[in-house]
Amino acid sequence: MKRPFVTRSQLDEIVKEYPTPFHLYDEKGLRENARRVNAAFAWNSGFREYFAVKATPNPALLKLFREEGCGADCSSLTELMLAERCGFRGQEIMFSSNNTLAEEYQMADRLGAIINLDDLTHVDFLEEAIGHIPETIFCRYNPGGVFTLGASKDGHQVMDTPGDAKYGMTRPQIAQAFQTLKAKGAKYFGLHCFLASNTISNDYYPALAGILFRLAVELKEETGCDIRYINLSGGIGIPYRPEEEANDIALIGAGVRRQYEEVLVPAGMGNVKLCGELGRFMTGPYGCLVTRVLHFKHIYKEYVGVDACAADLMRPAVYGAYHHITASGKEDAPCTQTVDVTGSLCENCDKFAVDRPMPALERGDLLVIHDTGAHGHSMGYNYNGKLRSAELLLQEDGSVRLIRRAETPEDYFATAIW
Ligand SMILES: *Cc1c(COP(=O)(O)O)cnc(C)c1O
Repeated sequence: MKRPFVTRSQLDEIVKEYPTPFHLYDEKGLRENARRVNAAFAWNSGFREYFAVKATPNPALLKLFREEGCGADCSSLTELMLAERCGFRGQEIMFSSNNTLAEEYQMADRLGAIINLDDLTHVDFLEEAIGHIPETIFCRYNPGGVFTLGASKDGHQVMDTPGDAKYGMTRPQIAQAFQTLKAKGAKYFGLHCFLASNTISNDYYPALAGILFRLAVELKEETGCDIRYINLSGGIGIPYRPEEEANDIALIGAGVRRQYEEVLVPAGMGNVKLCGELGRFMTGPYGCLVTRVLHFKHIYKEYVGVDACAADLMRPAVYGAYHHITASGKEDAPCTQTVDVTGSLCENCDKFAVDRPMPALERGDLLVIHDTGAHGHSMGYNYNGKLRSAELLLQEDGSVRLIRRAETPEDYFATAIW
């Protein structure tokens, strides 16, 4: 049974000040989870979790993670600017991009960020863009083939087959990249790899760690490069469905440690610092989309119309992703009907739930759409003239802070040339 982190009485207060729909984040949950992640890897001196900014690019959350000792993982120019504005400096910023613009490399270099190269051809492209090769440089590996471990029911739509993924370098390419970078003056090397998204398994990170640790040992022998960092990237998932079990980050950290001690330590590489770039795991469960029931429609199916739409949360529309929905204050009421919960876009995929058992609902009820803390507001868009919603932070003391205002029609018109 999934329960929202916000109660009916809290929501009744919040909606007096902030109209629905809005995304609400749970500061206590975010901080406690960040501390669990850091504790799970505290055995590795120099470990740093670089929060994947794209998941939830809100300054208040980035600053919160910075206070918890995290870095920022950026993939674009504006994400780099955002990280800088939130106080991240130098190697507290990871730049893991693909199909990268020269301006992005220039900005990353200006900030002193760690640059993670997605492709062999980017060795020359980077050098051309910034005029040198940084002392510390990472490369992204793609082992090809199929990787199935730990895929959740909804995970497959995001990315699962490395052989079909556009990211990273092949095995021969990564050796060549390291050799070329070393010849051009790079001193410290990092390896990165991202095999699967939203894994519901405590074995994913350890399995990936095993692959990268063995690769690091081989590459050290083949190229003589000083490999100081291994970036396990993102991919640790969250239980979107009530029947799924949450990953245990302490077990995951211990599993990675076993690989580290079996593979890296005997190879004389016990100084390697680990990095994470978790996004979904850091914020997913600690955000929800709050929306109000507007209409009931009875045609060939039963529809519950709400005031949020796919422009507020596109995962169900684009991936068919499951998001649990509870009616605030009716969490324990029996589900007596099966409905589609829909937004108002002129797109039939604009449904937060299809054939979903729900309790009896009334117009005005507040629905809590769970687990929207990652890839929720951040994937929002303005189709059908929809304005992006506010973001609110439920603070540890129980008060609520507006951390992004809702868009107004003036925002929508601001880029138009009349
Ligand atoms: C999306 C992404 C992440 C975060 O992935 P999650 O599955 O949200 O943990 C990390 N690194 C890179 C390069 C990404 O593209």
